[in-house]
Amino acid sequence: MKISVIGAGQMGNGIAHVFAQSGHHVTLIDVAQTSLDKALATIAKNLDRQVAKGTLTEEAKSAALANITTATDLAGGVKDAELVVEAATENVDLKLKIFRDLDASAPANCILATNTSSISITRIAAVTKRPAQVIGMHFMNPVPVMKLVEVIRGYDTSDAVTSTVVELSTAIGKIPVTVNDYAGFVANRILMPMINEAVETLFQGVGGVAEIDSIMKLGMAHPMGPLQLADFIGLDTCLSILRVLHEGLGNPKYAPCPLLVQMVTAGKLGVKSGEGFYQYTAGSKDLVVAPAFRK
Ligand code: NAD
Repeated sequence: MKISVIGAGQMGNGIAHVFAQSGHHVTLIDVAQTSLDKALATIAKNLDRQVAKGTLTEEAKSAALANITTATDLAGGVKDAELVVEAATENVDLKLKIFRDLDASAPANCILATNTSSISITRIAAVTKRPAQVIGMHFMNPVPVMKLVEVIRGYDTSDAVTSTVVELSTAIGKIPVTVNDYAGFVANRILMPMINEAVETLFQGVGGVAEIDSIMKLGMAHPMGPLQLADFIGLDTCLSILRVLHEGLGNPKYAPCPLLVQMVTAGKLGVKSGEGFYQYTAGSKDLVVAPAFRK
């Protein structure tokens, strides 16, 4: 299948990786050439890791890399696509613009999927002339590792398009779970209030970063504490999702913690910026609490 992936950030590179590894032809598109270069390097590094573990052969790795081409021009990059998976920055206006452009440039029978974490599929579909072909395909991070694809049906998404996306997700080794389109869907409607509450708990001084994460890891058997997970997702993405929940569900319990807002304003976005609740140094796997939260 010919698949175009829009946005070559942490999700886009993983989505391109899994489709290419399953034999699909992928065009990875980003406005920033630097993101495309970084994405190709990340994919190659992650495929190398699979080869080292013995779960992938050298030939399969080369075949996967050969299946990926890159583009900075959206119209050219989607002109032959059968499926587009949009994974650009979590911003409503940006996604609405991308879907208007996609509707104008992608072939009439092309399915338009979005990896949005929270933005209404129905709202995105409404700016196109093909709402029956618009669907949520919400991969989890890191995409090559995580099994789930949350498949979200918008108000008009057809049964045929849902079946195609479910079958394709299964064929690339994922486990699709289909849900309906309300703010945050299922995954983030439950996850983000937990992360926000962890930030609020830190903000009120109930516990420090390490204490909060240790309690949730050891007490709830979570593989990673909520503050570390927030860093991993990206604090800007967490804030955007909480705003969508707050606005979309109209309940004050979703209001983002002021500390989260402050950190995003200061450019502390977590792993991708080098600092969030923890500090990240290239080449080091040690979990070091960020200076602002050291006692
Ligand atoms: P990111 O910031 O790592 O990457 C976003 C990429 O989009 C950047 O490379 C940027 O240059 C590119 N971009 C911006 N505008 C563009 C445009 N007009 N056309 C093409 N590319 C454009 O973000 P991410 O974490 O990869 O998130 C991407 C999407 O996936 C968001 O919708 C997010 O909510 C969703 N998501 C994120 C996670 C997560 O854990 N980070 C998990 C599931 C879903």
